[in-house]
Amino acid sequence: MTSVRHIRLAYNSAYLVEAGGERVLIDTGPDYRGAKDVLATAVAGSPPALVVATHGHLDHAGLGHWWQEQGIPVALHEEDLHYSTGHQLDDDELRALEGFVRGSGAPGEVEVEALAGLAARRAWARQAVETRDYRPAGRDAHWPTGLRYEPFEPRRVLVEDVTEVAPGVRAMAAPGHTPGNLVVFLEAEGWLFSGDQLLPEIAPTPAIQRFQSAPGAPWRFRSLPRFLDSLRRIRGLDATRCYPGHGDPFEDVAATIDANLTQAEQRTARVLEALRENSGATLYALAEGLYPRALRKRFWQIIATVQGHLDVLEEEGLATTAEGRWGAR
Ligand SMILES: [Zn+2]
Ligand SMILES: [Zn+2]
Repeated sequence: MTSVRHIRLAYNSAYLVEAGGERVLIDTGPDYRGAKDVLATAVAGSPPALVVATHGHLDHAGLGHWWQEQGIPVALHEEDLHYSTGHQLDDDELRALEGFVRGSGAPGEVEVEALAGLAARRAWARQAVETRDYRPAGRDAHWPTGLRYEPFEPRRVLVEDVTEVAPGVRAMAAPGHTPGNLVVFLEAEGWLFSGDQLLPEIAPTPAIQRFQSAPGAPWRFRSLPRFLDSLRRIRGLDATRCYPGHGDPFEDVAATIDANLTQAEQRTARVLEALRENSGATLYALAEGLYPRALRKRFWQIIATVQGHLDVLEEEGLATTAEGRWGAR
């Protein structure tokens, strides 16, 4: 008998899957005050043999240390190890991101703001790693307290495209949201555990992030094209039910994927149009033309979105870039 137990952890959902006589927990759960009690109760008497973290973000892998302390190994894809080992936004990544801002064409005062935002993000990530106590809840109040992220070395590092983690339970590489993002698929049941790859309400926005283990390769991970590739691949699985990392399970899986893909295609088309009208524009100038009001306030989010669509266009052979300036072809 194959079964799933939905474990609600404030804004997050974790799932205890039983298949072929083995139990696997999908996502470690986020480490807010009280989360461990919820999890301990949920798995009492039926502990998982393995916890699979869909990716390294703190709300999905933040309790990895705690599980491993209890002798339960955690699996994470190798491309996301920099998150679990506390190296997110280390000096190298920070320097690369600073270089990215400087090359974006942003005016001086915006550059200063963006770099300050980066420093704040880094301090916040550091605090999650170092703090013993729980910080107050953030403004979005997704969780009852701030999240901790005690570093850990996953005992199972996944490197293959597909890994069978329990009988009939496959962890599949789905890079995009992060470089080492995974989904878990039970083919016989048609069940997809999607982490942040596919959510009922929102499409995750791409981020400017580095690619961990590609020596000599460009530092920046092309988040959006890979995310869309992964969506198309998942579309081909013909899943009948999706268990997302946030929110409730849903069944219109193909329609949700198609809506995501259509929205992305429309945005790519808008960026291409802007590019055709502003040949030679910088990334910043394009973003300003597309999102004049919001750009300053949500610099990183918007810059990452526009950069993501430029990446898509470049891979499709519709855009070129040289010396920080973009053109359509
Ligand atoms: Zn995430
Ligand atoms: Zn998430």
